[in-house]
Amino acid sequence: VDRPVAGEKHVLLAAPRGYCAGVDRAVVAVEKALDRFGSPVYVRKQIVHNVHVVSELEKRGAIFVDEVDEVPTGSHLVFSAHGVSPMVVQAAADRQLLAIDATCPLVTKVHREATRFAGQDKHILLIGHTGHEEVEGTMGHAPDRTTLVTSPADADTIEVADPDNLVWISQTTLSVDETMETVRRLRERFPALQDPPSDDICYATQNRQVAIKKVAQDADLVIVVGSANSSNSVRLVEVALEHGARAAHRVDYASEIQQEWLDGVVSVGVTSGASVPEVLVQEVLADLADAGYSTVHEVTTAEEDLMFSLPKELRTDVTGAT
Ligand code: SF4
Repeated sequence: VDRPVAGEKHVLLAAPRGYCAGVDRAVVAVEKALDRFGSPVYVRKQIVHNVHVVSELEKRGAIFVDEVDEVPTGSHLVFSAHGVSPMVVQAAADRQLLAIDATCPLVTKVHREATRFAGQDKHILLIGHTGHEEVEGTMGHAPDRTTLVTSPADADTIEVADPDNLVWISQTTLSVDETMETVRRLRERFPALQDPPSDDICYATQNRQVAIKKVAQDADLVIVVGSANSSNSVRLVEVALEHGARAAHRVDYASEIQQEWLDGVVSVGVTSGASVPEVLVQEVLADLADAGYSTVHEVTTAEEDLMFSLPKELRTDVTGAT
């Protein structure tokens, strides 16, 4: 990394940032479904938690609904990247909808763990946020055998029927440090608590947190591009504040940056959540350049090259060839 000149206003741009493999796949899935089947294509919930992405897809003919029963019988329906419970899959089948499953494969992995642990009669402690779509989908895979643990404080008070038969899993987009603290406090109370075979917090969430930690050490202000309901974006604000940023704000668009945030600021850290198109970051950089922060130093902590193949319903063309 080239070093900023002391006292000169500059931007520290975190890398990796922005789109992950699961978001890219989900957005392309809706675009391909529109190309192939024509408008409208229905999408259950926001395909990814970003207002810009959703409004662009709406312009192209996607219709976002909350529940399956809002979709006309026989239509195409895309399940969002956050995944769905088996009940939702069944409801779509009952309505004869042509479902396209854009659930991120890394969420599907957690669903499989939940199903397997429930099959082994274990009780699952799911670390995650109340009401988040991913949590609802994961809990739906083992509804009678899952208890939600929402925070380290919650770990101190939850009650379980069978403390010797517990395993924990998690939402994919949590703070790594806070989740480890939750697990530590759970294990204090339930020493027999089993770990999942591999991390549930996904590579993209982890990588973006590592990058913003490095940036935050040297930033007076951190700007995170991402939507309010984007779990991993909101975590980036928290992680920045915990690791040295004097202030950190989340914005959907560059226009939300307030002049007073920049008072006395020399170094601005910039990152974006996993559901955020790079164009929105470039707009932030352009506005910061206008405000005198025209030098951009990229702070890279990992390289990412993961890609997922499209949902199987979109992998064959109309002739049946792959
Ligand atoms: Fe998948 Fe992680 Fe991206 Fe979510 S943030 S879509 S789990 S890669």
